[in-house]
Amino acid sequence: MEQKLNTLQTEAHTQLSTVENNAQLEDFRIRFLGRKGLCSTVMKELGSVSDKERPRLGQMANRVKNEIEALYDEKRQALLSGLNGSSIQEDTIDLSLPGRKPEKGRLHPVTQIMNEVCSIFENLGFAVAEGPDVEHDHYNFEALNIPAHHPARDMHDTFYISDSILLRTHTSPMQARIMEARQPPLRVIAPGKVYRCDSDITHTPMFHQVEGFLVDKNISFADLKGVLTVFTEKMFDQKLELRFRPSFFPFTEPSAEVDIACVICEGKGCRVCKRTGWLEILGSGMIDPEVFKKVGYDPEIYSGFAFGLGIERIAMLKYGIDDIRLYYENDLRFLSQF
Ligand SMILES: [Zn+2]
Repeated sequence: MEQKLNTLQTEAHTQLSTVENNAQLEDFRIRFLGRKGLCSTVMKELGSVSDKERPRLGQMANRVKNEIEALYDEKRQALLSGLNGSSIQEDTIDLSLPGRKPEKGRLHPVTQIMNEVCSIFENLGFAVAEGPDVEHDHYNFEALNIPAHHPARDMHDTFYISDSILLRTHTSPMQARIMEARQPPLRVIAPGKVYRCDSDITHTPMFHQVEGFLVDKNISFADLKGVLTVFTEKMFDQKLELRFRPSFFPFTEPSAEVDIACVICEGKGCRVCKRTGWLEILGSGMIDPEVFKKVGYDPEIYSGFAFGLGIERIAMLKYGIDDIRLYYENDLRFLSQF
């Protein structure tokens, strides 16, 4: 028994010194330390030695087994960290392998649509102007013919910061800001973030709008129709029928909601257009003379139109997405499709 243990120890040393890779190390583990390995076999023989000898031989067997285990661990670590020269040789870098491509970023779909909308209007001669997200009550409401206690304020679900400061609920304040600072003729679009206390599958508390307006002499509703027709054709890459529905906004008179023929079913009626064949895309109208008076323009001389559209709404229609919240969950599986 003692002899066997000594042989086992020597043999383990010899075999381990020839181990050069993980496969050989695994062979070693199975042969010596496995459930039916040499160590277990010797341990089983302890049952047949005399009671007197058993404690001494038991101790010895344990010591040999622990030593082999320690040697095995040491070798494993050495192979892992590549200290063993031969393992480095096996893992030589293969220069012919194709490289790993770094993941390329891209613009968020909302930003893409925003840029597209801006560039269409820029090609029509509109200048781009950006304004503050934190706005005075004056520009957000007062100057746009929405005085305090006007029922239209209820529709806006405003985030107030103080009594007179708020997060803008639309990009229209830029109309008042620009008209106040400059004289006609004006052709401006104002893209940006707006905020409303609202959240469901078609609303998020923050979303993007583009406001556009044009002021000059002899501007009529026909000019508004012309500009919006060109815009929708370019935006959706096809000739689309437009429908103007009478509506109400305090800062335009007359006002109209604009629908396009459904881009998904081409007017036949589907789930997205709720079987009507029409999709609402923006609000518009002729600028109210009251708004001109507040900025010192003579409404007898000047006229103009204004419109506001939601970027997420356009993006949803263009890509056929029915839940606006997808744009803000930042799931790369979704975002990388655009
Ligand atoms: Zn449809």
